[in-house]
Amino acid sequence: MSQERTNLLGLTLPGMQEFFLDLGEKPFRAQQLLKWIHHAGLVSFDEMSNLSKSLREKLAEVAEIRPPEVVDQLDSEDGTRKWVLRVDEGGLVESVFIPEGNRGTLCVSSQVGCILDCSFCSTGKQGFQRDLTAAEIIGQVWLALKSYDAFQSGNGRKVTNVVMMGMGEPLLNFDNVVDAMDLMLEDLAYGLSKRRVTLSTSGVVPALDRLAKVSEVSLAVSLHAPNDELRSQLVPINRKYPIKMLLESCRNYLDHQKDSKRVVTVEYTLIAGVNDQPDQARELAILLKDFPCKINLIPFNTIAQSDYKRPSGNAVSRFWQVLVDAGYVVTVRTTRGDDIDAACGQLVGQVVDRTRRAERYRRANEEQVVRLA
Ligand code: SAH
Ligand code: SF4
Repeated sequence: MSQERTNLLGLTLPGMQEFFLDLGEKPFRAQQLLKWIHHAGLVSFDEMSNLSKSLREKLAEVAEIRPPEVVDQLDSEDGTRKWVLRVDEGGLVESVFIPEGNRGTLCVSSQVGCILDCSFCSTGKQGFQRDLTAAEIIGQVWLALKSYDAFQSGNGRKVTNVVMMGMGEPLLNFDNVVDAMDLMLEDLAYGLSKRRVTLSTSGVVPALDRLAKVSEVSLAVSLHAPNDELRSQLVPINRKYPIKMLLESCRNYLDHQKDSKRVVTVEYTLIAGVNDQPDQARELAILLKDFPCKINLIPFNTIAQSDYKRPSGNAVSRFWQVLVDAGYVVTVRTTRGDDIDAACGQLVGQVVDRTRRAERYRRANEEQVVRLA
């Protein structure tokens, strides 16, 4: 029965207006509904006090407000919280909330699995199952606020940033991701600034060119190697859209932005002995010369399906230093939520045995912790 109802959670303002017009109602109802759903966090039409009883009844017949089902919620010792969510047809996805001072960043998934199979990523290892709907994507933001009672307290600012860096390649689920990001930016919904919503892509160039025309969110690109030979091994889509093409597409994206000061975040996962050598840092510095970017180094997070190792703190520092000396702004992503398998690349959408998790955490803590200012 519920399949036949329209899930209003994923409708953008124009989509919602169309929905009400189709229902023979005035389009201004769309504004009211968006606020009830995304500002007040309601799922029941009954509680929407500025709608007539007959309209509430009509809505209950033809529509619903339905976020994904929370299968598991895990809290890390460092304050990170992870949700395992079940979406229709049984797939599981994960989202992760990372508090940091006054900021709160939510890492959102866009697909169940991923077809691109990067060699270091556990999501890729599970293959692709399906795209998430816009309701399932924005539903992750909705659920995060709900779980902190942030609607109730009027503290919508709990989630200040969203990164499309969870499971899946967002640009391969273009329309739904764009709709969900529109809701993130929409004042009637979450009202985040375009600088605080970031889409990360492994480099689906034609889709990135399309995105440039319709979106103003911040862009992060998963580079991971300073040349095509190595990148093609790590990120197979590079064989189709090599580095030069990708960087041109990123430039084109920036050119479409009104604000000329914006830069692309270059993500570089450091894997011991594979792409973490000082020579490779030098090659990267040359490759990115004159490219408007900042660089984010991500020490590899171990995954069960690969023998890759995390580099030592010294190796990370060395790599970092070469790039800093070459004049780049370089940050190192600290690992968060490792005890609950919530770190980058560890999201697989499964309810993991808690004993195994505790064991992993103990081991992770024995490793050298990388701290760079
Ligand atoms: N599909 C998109 C977004 C999801 S992955 C993309 O690839 O950009 C988010 C980031 O985590 C990417 O930069 C990805 O390369 C990185 N990542 C994946 N697996 C990782 C791992 N095991 N350790 C560290 N970073 C990883
Ligand atoms: Fe897909 Fe991104 Fe993982 Fe590559 S790193 S397999 S693109 S989710």
